[in-house]
Amino acid sequence: MSEVHKSGSHVQVVATMFDVERDTARPRNKAVITSPQDVAGRRVLTGYRPTGRLHLGHLVGNIRNNLALQTESETFFFVADWHALTTAYEDTSELAADVRELVADLMACGLDPDESVIYRQSDVPEVAELFVYLSMITPLGWLERNPTHKEQLRELETRHINTSGNLAYPVLQTADITIVEGEVVPVGEDQLPHLELAREIVRRFNGLYGDGILIEPIALLSVGARVPGTDGRKMSKSYGNAIYLDDDPDSITEKLRKYVTDPLKIRLHDPGRPEVCSIFTMHELFTPPSEVGAVAAECRAGDRGCVACKAEIAVNVVEELAPIRKRKLELIADPGQIGDVLAHGAKCVRPIAAATLDSVRDGIGL
Ligand code: SF4
Repeated sequence: MSEVHKSGSHVQVVATMFDVERDTARPRNKAVITSPQDVAGRRVLTGYRPTGRLHLGHLVGNIRNNLALQTESETFFFVADWHALTTAYEDTSELAADVRELVADLMACGLDPDESVIYRQSDVPEVAELFVYLSMITPLGWLERNPTHKEQLRELETRHINTSGNLAYPVLQTADITIVEGEVVPVGEDQLPHLELAREIVRRFNGLYGDGILIEPIALLSVGARVPGTDGRKMSKSYGNAIYLDDDPDSITEKLRKYVTDPLKIRLHDPGRPEVCSIFTMHELFTPPSEVGAVAAECRAGDRGCVACKAEIAVNVVEELAPIRKRKLELIADPGQIGDVLAHGAKCVRPIAAATLDSVRDGIGL
């Protein structure tokens, strides 16, 4: 991989990234890797569905890990707007705004167009053509046994998502990865079956039309911290318990004030149990490590009240999010900048995608 030159012009930088020979001679038989060190020099692809504002759960559970890969590897990030249609095709009025929102959130967290390629899925029509070819060779049974599809049918009953697009979601995902020769895909444990399915589809395609036409991707299992929401459940937009990255300081403080704490600590000087308290989990995530031990000790000894404890964590969370919020507001105020980043990303990715399609068409004999 080439060095990434901090020239201030991402046009130049990304062009350099694509000109280099990558280390494709390394063994590729591993399905899963867990160490970010093993990713060095490889092309890493991460896609995000545009589903609205990002929250602290995204930041701590996923985004920080993925953005940390930017310095060591070739990182491609894309906004999966076609994927959003697999569950929300009826009302698309917010989709374009959600795309901008997502890019602004990610860039505010540190996604850097000078280090990474950032593009929108629907700007790369080659993905759709590859999706067609992969759909032809993917047995329906492989898709029907996908647990996510079954779960979504149950949970999103009212959205009428029993569509061929939703069923074929893993095929589209395989096209996303292979069209840009993605070698490594960071995933959580729950997404491992999807990546295994992508590997199966690639093996079947290569078995039919020629070894090595498509690259079999490897999963980078990333383990991020679980962030509790206001009600103690995992932070999630759908539970209505999230602190968003662009929440203002008053909202953050108010949300943290509502957090569930140890139910047995009723009075100020009752001894508490930090291990069952969501506010203590937030301290573990956002308070300087040297101070966390004292929080636990004071709680257990009854020397700390929950009101003060919540006010203290609110200060730390507000401080953590202040630069992200500031940067995001600047980006949202300048939609042209986000448009330029995405346009440039598509310009970089499409030649790679076209080359993949050439090999694919040759292999099939079209
Ligand atoms: S003092 Fe802090 S850590 Fe202890 S129960 Fe109250 S909020 Fe939780």
